[in-house]
Amino acid sequence: MSPATPSDPYRLPRSVVPSHYNLTLEPDLDAATFAGNVSIDVEVTEPVDEILVNAADLDIASARLVGPNGTEVTGIVTLDLERERAIIDLEDALAPGAWRLDIGFTGVLNDKLVGFYRSTYVDDDGISHTLAVSQMESTHARRAFPCFDEPDFKATFGVTLVVAEGLTAISNSATIDVDTTPDGRQSHRFATTMPMSTYLVAFVVGPLEVTEERITAGGVPIRVVHPPGKGHLTPYALDAAAFALDYFADWFGIPYPGDKLDLVAVPDFAFGAMENLGCVTFREVLLLIDPDTATQPELERLVDVVAHELAHMWFGDLVTMGWWEGIWLNEAFATFMEMLCTDAYRPQWQRWVSFGLSRTAAFDVDALAATRPIEFPVISPEDAEGMFDLLTYEKGAAVLRMLEQYLGPDVFKAGIQAYIEAHQYGNTKTTDLWDAIESSSGEPVRRIMDSWIYQGGFPLVSVALERDGAAVRLTQQRFRSLDPAGSDEDASLWAIPVTLKIGRGGDVVDERVLLDGDTTTLSLSAPADWVLANADGSGFYRARYGDAARAALVEHRAELLPIERYGLVDDVWAAVLAGEATAPDVLALCEALAVDEEDLSVWQRIAAALGSLDRYVPDGSRDALAAAVRGMARPHLDRLGWEPVADEDERTSQLRGTIIRLLGTTGADAAVATQARALHDQVLDGTTGLDPAVVSAAVDIVAATGTASDLDMFIERMESAPTPQEGQRYQYALGDFPGADEIDRVLDLALTDAVRSQNVAFVLRRVLLNRDHGDRAWAYLTHNWAAVNDKLPSMSMVRMAEGVRGLSTPALAHEVEAFFAEHPLPQATKTLSQHLEALRVNVGVREREADRLGAALET
Ligand SMILES: [Zn+2]
Repeated sequence: MSPATPSDPYRLPRSVVPSHYNLTLEPDLDAATFAGNVSIDVEVTEPVDEILVNAADLDIASARLVGPNGTEVTGIVTLDLERERAIIDLEDALAPGAWRLDIGFTGVLNDKLVGFYRSTYVDDDGISHTLAVSQMESTHARRAFPCFDEPDFKATFGVTLVVAEGLTAISNSATIDVDTTPDGRQSHRFATTMPMSTYLVAFVVGPLEVTEERITAGGVPIRVVHPPGKGHLTPYALDAAAFALDYFADWFGIPYPGDKLDLVAVPDFAFGAMENLGCVTFREVLLLIDPDTATQPELERLVDVVAHELAHMWFGDLVTMGWWEGIWLNEAFATFMEMLCTDAYRPQWQRWVSFGLSRTAAFDVDALAATRPIEFPVISPEDAEGMFDLLTYEKGAAVLRMLEQYLGPDVFKAGIQAYIEAHQYGNTKTTDLWDAIESSSGEPVRRIMDSWIYQGGFPLVSVALERDGAAVRLTQQRFRSLDPAGSDEDASLWAIPVTLKIGRGGDVVDERVLLDGDTTTLSLSAPADWVLANADGSGFYRARYGDAARAALVEHRAELLPIERYGLVDDVWAAVLAGEATAPDVLALCEALAVDEEDLSVWQRIAAALGSLDRYVPDGSRDALAAAVRGMARPHLDRLGWEPVADEDERTSQLRGTIIRLLGTTGADAAVATQARALHDQVLDGTTGLDPAVVSAAVDIVAATGTASDLDMFIERMESAPTPQEGQRYQYALGDFPGADEIDRVLDLALTDAVRSQNVAFVLRRVLLNRDHGDRAWAYLTHNWAAVNDKLPSMSMVRMAEGVRGLSTPALAHEVEAFFAEHPLPQATKTLSQHLEALRVNVGVREREADRLGAALET
């Protein structure tokens, strides 16, 4: 045998390689257990006297090997709990060749939302029903059946599910037949899958309904599988999925690799969704929707997620990373493709403009010393879990977008098509992709991308007009939020595709340059009046201008695209975090842009900046800040009114909601709060046809001004909401209530069955971010840490912990640091260290800016 090397103790040896799994599972939903048998066809490549497979939380009764001529070799099984393995000691050594490994086992349907787990729902008559659902990624297939649980051990799977009569049973491929067993159960046998990784295997069993098939233009049958009574919420996702599947088959130039596609709404689900080939699982709020009552962002999120998972059918399922360090490419690419597909499906949503918000979130993390390179070593299962973060998804997608825009979409696509074609059914490493795009484009793609993938952080590009506007000088340096002086990493340089927008005498021209060293000067054909870096916002860098140059951009804002104006606010806010600009600078910029700004994304960025200022402003100056907010936003509400006009575009409707929410919360606008409450009363009275964007804003405003009886009503609405989206609005807004007693009730509620474990992290994070009661939430969490740990899925802990960023007084920050030193989160060490550093940044901002902002508001 080949022992795993000490430096990499979690990898299995390559002396035994699986090619096919014949897997039968018999879940007992009432007992919350399952029994199983797996027969794995393996190729033994050198003589071995033991076989290692992954297994965790399973009881293994027996194991034996069967050779080609019927030779049987019995194995004694011991479990290595630490490494999540079964060690099968063989009575005789196995000769190289083809063998079959038979293992019988049993397990428990757990409540931790990983492996083969239990989910429940309560029907209209108050009766509880149980499902059994799988979630294998990253390393949880080993909790459902013994297997070679590494992504490059691809194999085909023949699955059989034996279930009680009347239950729906779904897996990755089409049902071949259903037999009745002697004891009256039903045995569902599914077609053999394509070769795929264990993390993509899926089973769903339970009392579920299934929609009619919708056949795509490419001939693929799609269905939605859902808890009974929710069929009316499925058409929107079916339509989006049908569009996406045809869109991707065309874009990749390869047909969908599965034989059918089921989209499954799961009541308890730790992630957003999971790209199991042919059996994609979702949390309900991302699959079941009523387009008449959903807001545009709720619809967009659903389409995004459906598109994201379906992009994975090719990029991830058909071509798969060789090991978990490559997960970034899998997720970054699916995120990039989700934008592309959503943008094609609903061009009016301007998806690449709203992507600015995601890019901002990635910038915020990547500006910290505790950031990491996009591609990062992964050794243990915990390391793999820690990779599912903003840097993988959002920064990864942003750098792919930058490359696509630099090369041109067609050249980029040709490279991807060549890559998928060459590696289908196989596994890759990141450089395989760059090599494919490099050979299709002739550009130095590998050199450019290495600078973005293998070093953390991102550049700040300083832009200055020189020689009376006849030249532009560009200089790059690493951008940092905190501690700008310092380490060797400050010498990092990037190969930056810079796109400049240059204004002269009313004309605007673009210039492109690859900034490869620390500085370059570009001579212009004619003197410029103003210059903007990162035209179209697709670069993953921030820009800095001198005061006069920035003022010129504000003056010429009508010549800039919305995403470019968005960037002005975003870059100045980042400069405040870094101590290079002041809070009054941000306020002044918001006021200047607000005069005539009509774009949704720019307003969302302004509203976020103003909300942040409200966190830092001294209590005595809050009214003055609120008055300033009203001064900016009121004219826009007067312009837009409370009711949509006929044929209004969706972004305008959503802008109305954004303006109303800003006025009713940060703006403390009493008239708006009164009107929002009146509108919400209409919701309670059952009035239909109200504008979802305004209704959603009203929910937040009622919460922000809510009383004890409002909280009763919120809890009732949360439980009885007719759609998942409406339920979620009430649930997440619980954290915004202004009274301490109400917040205490919300905290207690979060740990009861009233809040599903999949949502607890989001509820608690929001309470931590409550401006006035974050400290109460923190005290509660620390006193109930064991219960919180017990209730939340492992991956959710760090999502909740993100809320500590709001606890930005020195005393609280100190408490938080000390607590996590005693209570680390090993599954998210890196992300937690980022939250803690972001907290220190925020403490610094408060110390520097609070009084300065207060003084500016009083003048
Ligand atoms: Zn994904």
